[in-house]
Amino acid sequence: MRPVARKAWLEAADRWWHNPSGLYREAAAARRALEDARERLAELLDCEPERVVFVSGATEANNAVMAHAAATAGRDAVIAVGAGEHPSVLEAAGAWFRGRVLTVPTGGDGAAATADLGRIVGTFRPALVSLMAANNETGVLQPWQEALAVCQEAGIPFHCDAVQWLGRLPVNGLGECDFLTGSGHKFGGPKGVGFLMVPAGPGGALRWIRGGPQEDRRRAGTENLPAICGMVAALEDAIVNPPDATAHTAARSAFECELVEAVPGVEIIAAGSPRLWNTVMAILPPPVNVKWLARLSARGFAVSTGSACSRGEGASAVLAAMGVPHDSLNRVLRFSGGDDTTPADWKALASALRDVHREFASGARPVAPL
Ligand code: PLP
Repeated sequence: MRPVARKAWLEAADRWWHNPSGLYREAAAARRALEDARERLAELLDCEPERVVFVSGATEANNAVMAHAAATAGRDAVIAVGAGEHPSVLEAAGAWFRGRVLTVPTGGDGAAATADLGRIVGTFRPALVSLMAANNETGVLQPWQEALAVCQEAGIPFHCDAVQWLGRLPVNGLGECDFLTGSGHKFGGPKGVGFLMVPAGPGGALRWIRGGPQEDRRRAGTENLPAICGMVAALEDAIVNPPDATAHTAARSAFECELVEAVPGVEIIAAGSPRLWNTVMAILPPPVNVKWLARLSARGFAVSTGSACSRGEGASAVLAAMGVPHDSLNRVLRFSGGDDTTPADWKALASALRDVHREFASGARPVAPL
């Protein structure tokens, strides 16, 4: 967590543990803190505060969007989603629009094909288009601005899952989306908190969780005020002190060059595409990724076999959509840096990969765990 986010989170837990919906004096202070957080987040996103709904995370936000789209669209309405979306979009869309989900294909470069989106929008007029801002596995930046323009032109609501973009790249323009998903722990805030930006007025009148009057009846349940305060402080910090994307990209590119040299046969996925500065996804030579992961973990490197959310279960939708052969999927590793990852960290990871590769080649036993 960013230090400012941790501070805001702990302070809010001490000062405002009262229920923001209560009617007594302390509750009113908690309520003010909640609305202050909403206003600050809206200011960052350049939208009206009423458009911000606090939720438990991006999975919830994405499910809420799909449920709302299904509740407000006609019985035969179709929906269009990117082929490489997060499972919380793909599965929720599939469940709410059974047999009525149109897929916007992902090209071999890892980006959604906007020409196909234009054709889908023109031909089928979906009730909603959902396209992420940056892919959580490959890091490939998605053409969300173009998709937004296509939808605006056609008068179709546009949802953007911006979980991987927020805190890493400028937020400009995201507030123009009709629906926007964000998750606190992806930009240095606490876990288990996120937000959904919805359209002002009736278009955003969700009845996602029913019960009490919280969040304007759109999402009932006592708000997690400390986590909300921590999340907003984290995003403010990420925007006021933006990461040096150029320096991070240079360190990551240097790592990729070292990796290719250290481990013959390695393939960087979407190497030529504009990507998030913190993400590298690669297909390694045998053995399977979990064996690489175990040996890197023993050396103190926390890497992933794909998206942590899927924990290696099932095939990756985005890699399948990119045409990565099925038999290489169990050799995929993802390396993700953070704001505080240094060129020396990337170098150390490259040399650990070199050592592990040598160990495998020589049949040596793993090093003792740290
Ligand atoms: N969407 C994307 C693009 C993600 O990367 C993730 C998590 O990694 C999610 C949604 C789910 O986020 P949360 O953990 O807040 O439910």
